Amino acid sequence: MKIKTRFAPSPTGYLHIGSARTALYSWLFARHHGGEFILRIEDTDLERSTPQAINAIIDSLNWLKINWDQGPYFQTKRFAYYNYMINHLLNNGHAYKCYCSKNRLENIRNQQMINGEKPRYDGFCRNNYQKNIFDDLPYVVRFRNPKEGSVIFKDLIRGIIQYSNKELDDLIIRRTDGTPTYNFCVVVDDFDMKITHVIRGEDHINNTPRQINILKALGAPLPEYAHVSMIMGNDGKKLSKRHGAVGIMQYRDEGFIPEAVLNYLVRLGWSYGNQEIFSLDNMKKLFSIEAVSKSASTFDNKKLLWYNQFYIKNLSPDNIAQHLFWHLNNNCTNIVSGPPLKELVQLFSKRCKTIKEMANYCYNFYQDVCQLDPEAAKIYLTKDATKLLQRVRDKLSIINNWTKESVHNAIVQTANELEVKIEKVSMPLRVAVTGVSYSPDIDLTIKTIGKLRSIKRIDIALKLTYGDD
Ligand code: GLU
Repeated sequence: MKIKTRFAPSPTGYLHIGSARTALYSWLFARHHGGEFILRIEDTDLERSTPQAINAIIDSLNWLKINWDQGPYFQTKRFAYYNYMINHLLNNGHAYKCYCSKNRLENIRNQQMINGEKPRYDGFCRNNYQKNIFDDLPYVVRFRNPKEGSVIFKDLIRGIIQYSNKELDDLIIRRTDGTPTYNFCVVVDDFDMKITHVIRGEDHINNTPRQINILKALGAPLPEYAHVSMIMGNDGKKLSKRHGAVGIMQYRDEGFIPEAVLNYLVRLGWSYGNQEIFSLDNMKKLFSIEAVSKSASTFDNKKLLWYNQFYIKNLSPDNIAQHLFWHLNNNCTNIVSGPPLKELVQLFSKRCKTIKEMANYCYNFYQDVCQLDPEAAKIYLTKDATKLLQRVRDKLSIINNWTKESVHNAIVQTANELEVKIEKVSMPLRVAVTGVSYSPDIDLTIKTIGKLRSIKRIDIALKLTYGDD
């Protein structure tokens, strides 16, 4: 049997961490088994679905490198097919027209509430359908749910789940305006798209028995189900923006890299021994749905940052450079006028938790002059330092072979000639050339910034004098 899974988001907002994890598990399951993965956009809620949300879903999956083999399918483009299937159920008696007025439904509902019963349709039209009398009136179509027995299914994560049919009323599958309803579209699509494994959030468990009954009525094979648990914030409440969780694209904007987000997500509810680090290939190889935890997971921003830092340090500089490029470019930085990005990655990868942080260090390398931090300038660009700066500037300016070593020699020689410690030279130099009092290795930094720019910046700093000494 060819394994086929799907990710079926409703495009009503950004793609959040929980949905991205569901997509990842569903995708990994398909990839692990050499199967197929489908993207289906469940956009039947016309009021809440937006094109921006559709784009956010597609962009996020692309960014995470979760690729699909078919789709994206859009449910709004498939109404004719759903209606065809509804008519089929009407014809074979698995569905019926319901003419109950809103008023009547409200009355039964109120009465049920007063009696302390669960509100449900009382089945009036199921039993009293009189074609000739009602045919001109508006109607909905309801699924004729079995009255007896129960629906039992084995959830691959949670084990056996059972619902008595008595708990399920007759679901509306077509509204009076002729549009099919959510649960019906899901079922028809899972059937039509030959989905073998439905992997989705646990908020859909309650839909499953109804969906199974409809599948049976359609004569469809039943897929396997796996309901993935919720993700909570550290206060035990459902994860939301309050906990610092944002849409996937915002993680990109904040300087996270997909490898880190994927590794974090896969571990958030799935484990393989004590292993923490999983490459994509590794995940595909090792993932199994049975090892997904059925308890809720807790979102932890610090852990995500830890993964990000790990991958920034350990992925190839070429890979990190691509992300760095995105950030610099997004901030209108022309990287042609400066060092190759790979060199900057090598310079900063050990000290940055995010690419955004790295980019902040890097802008400086693509501008002629740098902004001086007033505090650092006040401390280090003193009158005293002028002499040191001037001397090191002269030495730097006559270097022919601009390397880390030649820059280093210029600094050491200056310190020796003027009989001061190296820091006395390197700190004012650092502030003059980088604008700030912290930077990686100053020799390498100056080498990377380049000769012309470095000299230009020292000249600007030399014109400033601070302090009284
Ligand atoms: N469209 C549903 C959602 O976004 C998912 C439905 C399903 O996976 O069956 O929550």
